[in-house]
Amino acid sequence: MSKLNVCEIFASIQGESTLAGYPCVFVRLAGCNLRCAWCDTSYSHDDNSGVSTHINDIIGEIAKFPIKLIEITGGEPLLQPSTAALCDELLCRGYQVMIETNGTLDIGAVSNKVRRIVDIKCPGSGCGGSFLIHNLKHLTSNDEIKFVLASIDDAVWAKKFCDEHRITKKCSVTFSPVSSSLPYEKLADWMVENRFDGIRFGVQLHKIIWGERRGV
Ligand code: SF4
Repeated sequence: MSKLNVCEIFASIQGESTLAGYPCVFVRLAGCNLRCAWCDTSYSHDDNSGVSTHINDIIGEIAKFPIKLIEITGGEPLLQPSTAALCDELLCRGYQVMIETNGTLDIGAVSNKVRRIVDIKCPGSGCGGSFLIHNLKHLTSNDEIKFVLASIDDAVWAKKFCDEHRITKKCSVTFSPVSSSLPYEKLADWMVENRFDGIRFGVQLHKIIWGERRGV
């Protein structure tokens, strides 16, 4: 069976999706094809930040936790071809599986039974324009789109993108501020004033609980 380059496996609270608040096991894969300005997991960027691990051993590590919600994250998990096989194995074993991806690679590579959290990069990330537009065709109501916003300019850009592509008709959408550059209140006020329908305000719940540290 296949191997994956694994940076870390840990249990925490699901922090950002519509399942925020539920206990979740995270499998962080090594390697990323982007370098976002506000990235908080830069320790996973390089391929050598991980250890080549058999899928059976990954599942064995996951099984040590009494938790049935799993998120495959990174880095960028879709860079590794065996990610789809890991998702399938977990689904077969009755796990609820999520994957967090930066949207630059084909999300159709993994089953649509996996909840695909697609982080579309705004200009403030320094990686604007990296989203693979073809991915819009794969979205189902099981998936989620997330925009991480460094400024109100990013929010304006993201809202325009949502309107142009009718994203809220396809799946749930979350606007999440970079807390160091866009205060929660400023974004929340702006969303209320602009009467946003169908777009959630999101926070990084795990950071509110534990602060900036690895493995949560
Ligand atoms: S895509 Fe994710 S892991 Fe990669 S640089 Fe951006 S925030 Fe960091």
